[in-house]
Amino acid sequence: MIGFGYDCHKLANGEKLILGGIEIDSELGTIAHSDGDVVLHSLCDALLGATGLGDIGEYYPDSDIKYKNADSRIFLNEVVDLITSKGYTLVNVDLTIILEQPKLMNYKIKIRESIAELCKLPLERVNVKAKTSEKMGFVGSNEGIEAYSICEVK
Ligand code: MG
Repeated sequence: MIGFGYDCHKLANGEKLILGGIEIDSELGTIAHSDGDVVLHSLCDALLGATGLGDIGEYYPDSDIKYKNADSRIFLNEVVDLITSKGYTLVNVDLTIILEQPKLMNYKIKIRESIAELCKLPLERVNVKAKTSEKMGFVGSNEGIEAYSICEVK
C-alpha cells in the first residue's frame, strides 16, 4: 500500500528548527505545540495513511498539554510500532522538504540517517529531497515550511 502525508508550520525568529529529528542551524524556527518537526509529522501521516489508521492529529492532538514541546521522534517511533503491531512492514519512504532558507544541502544526509534509524530501514530505503519555493508564496517569503512524505507499506 501507498501512503501520503503533508505538514506545514509557521516560522518565527528565535524558535528551533528541527527536521527529521535533526536540529538545523537557522535564525527562523517553527511555531508549534510540539517540536514542530514538519518532516516527521508528514511521515507519520504517510504511514497512517498507507495502513488506513487515520492521521497524526487523532493520536497526538495539539490541544493536549502532554504534547507541549514533544519530541516528534516519539510520535514516529510509536507510529512505526503501531503499524508493525498490525502486521505491516515498511518498504521505503520518500520525503520532500520545502524551505526557502537555510539551504538544507548539508543536512540531507543527517536527516536521512535519522529517519532510517527511526523507521528501522536501511539508508537506501529512505530518500530526502530539499527544495525552495523559488521565493513564491508563504514558503518563499519565509513565513512557513512544508514537508511531503510518501511511503510504501506491505
Ligand atoms: Mg505538524
